[in-house]
Amino acid sequence: MDNDASSLEKLIGFDTISRRYESLYAFVARLIRSNLLSDGEARRFIPKSWVIKIFAPDDEASPDPGPDFRKYVDSRFSALTKLDIEPWAPFPTLTSVSQRCLRGCQTCLELGHHSYAYQGDLIARCPIHDEPLTHRCPHCQTPLWWRHSTISESAFRCPRGCDLLGGLHMGLEATTLNDLAFFFRRHLALIRRIRSTLRFASSPIYVAYPPRLIDLPIEEQGLPSLGLLPAIVDALRPYGPELPTFEKHHGQSHGAWRIKVTPFPLTNDAPASATESLNLLQAFKRGAFRTELPAPSPLAPALLRKLKDYVMLIEGNPVPRISVASYLVTTGEVAALQRLLAKDNDQGQTQMHYELLLHDILGRGLKRQEERQRPESRPRALGVAESVSAVMRLASGLFRVQGYTATDIVRARDSWKDFAESVDYL
Ligand SMILES: [Zn+2]
Ligand SMILES: [Zn+2]
Repeated sequence: MDNDASSLEKLIGFDTISRRYESLYAFVARLIRSNLLSDGEARRFIPKSWVIKIFAPDDEASPDPGPDFRKYVDSRFSALTKLDIEPWAPFPTLTSVSQRCLRGCQTCLELGHHSYAYQGDLIARCPIHDEPLTHRCPHCQTPLWWRHSTISESAFRCPRGCDLLGGLHMGLEATTLNDLAFFFRRHLALIRRIRSTLRFASSPIYVAYPPRLIDLPIEEQGLPSLGLLPAIVDALRPYGPELPTFEKHHGQSHGAWRIKVTPFPLTNDAPASATESLNLLQAFKRGAFRTELPAPSPLAPALLRKLKDYVMLIEGNPVPRISVASYLVTTGEVAALQRLLAKDNDQGQTQMHYELLLHDILGRGLKRQEERQRPESRPRALGVAESVSAVMRLASGLFRVQGYTATDIVRARDSWKDFAESVDYL
């Protein structure tokens, strides 16, 4: 530790470290506010790794606060619930809330309380104050970025400087802590139940299309729209009756998501070597006019017939590829296919998932193209705004989960018309 531990322990509010389920952010922010620490003092009195982890997570790859911190955390509780966001996010890639912004209940924040449980989107309202959780400043609506101007300013302040603590008090007293702890304990049990029931055989792949991408604020880019996780859990419930039911304060809206669940054809772990995956990854090539995609198995004849004007087969070594007109696939789709293969999942299932996705993506691109050419028709494919696909393992077997959101057709048509992207990134 690069500071004097005894001076750390002398800080006002240090004894509040034992608050259950509260975030490291809330604890350190309280130390800074209570002791009126300047930036320099904050770094001097509080271990640098804690400060970086909370207020400047991009500086270093979110360092573990280390044994020094664990030493201070009351051993009666799991240190992890205070140290990390991770235990609270069953499937981070399905969450629609940015981890880059502080999210919480306005009244809790005024009391100087924040829990990482609020960071995901599983909880929609504060269980005690029944207020909707928000990642925006209640005074000026600015997103509450973790990282802004200075450390001391970031402690319970919005980036524009509004005070998130009520009045002058330093947030050392929160009368509702026991009630909150009671809820969080149950919430953690629910998350563990979801995690033990649902596992990914092949990671979820999310693609946003122009109707969704247009006008999207920075903090929401790359994130699914609200309701994806409840929609998936509810859709899988008939196949996994052991899945827990949500409580009143959980987000239960499915938003715009429509989910389809189908048994996955490949139930046993078909072997696929790491070399094979690497070969597939290296076969991607994105260009201005042509894009090459690995196609380990031949495309379905029906799809191939429809695609005949756009696709060329390349019997390459070490893997066969298809070369498609670049406008048929988006950069987001190519990147998603690559990400899928790069993930450390069950290889055989991931490869099959990849092939199914490739068919979906080509089919969607084809429909888009047909509809662009026939403006009088009723466009449907143009209206897909987001799509998600995953292979999930339940006790009852493997299931493919496919989801999409639709958007209004006119808006979709306009956004596709203006859609342009850089294609030479590979
Ligand atoms: Zn609250
Ligand atoms: Zn503000």
